[in-house]
Amino acid sequence: MDFEERRLGAVTVRIDRTTCIGTANCAKIAPDLFVLDDEKIITFREPSPEIEPDRAVEACRVCPVDALAAFDADGRPIVP
Ligand code: SF4
Repeated sequence: MDFEERRLGAVTVRIDRTTCIGTANCAKIAPDLFVLDDEKIITFREPSPEIEPDRAVEACRVCPVDALAAFDADGRPIVP
């Protein structure tokens, strides 16, 4: 398993890099948050942006393989 996690205000986003197939759907919605690495697997940009929580969640929703998860401030899953 290869997870990366970022806290973005009230939302926490987790990438499952083992599952990502590099479609970049998420990066089209949130190019300030996500970028493909040299292996064409998504990773977080540094530093984390000031991003509206709704857009971060929407970017997680468009992943075709559920490689992205979003949680609220209490750790409850929003996506998937
Ligand atoms: S949408 Fe999903 S599969 Fe596509 S790059 Fe983002 S995390 Fe990877």
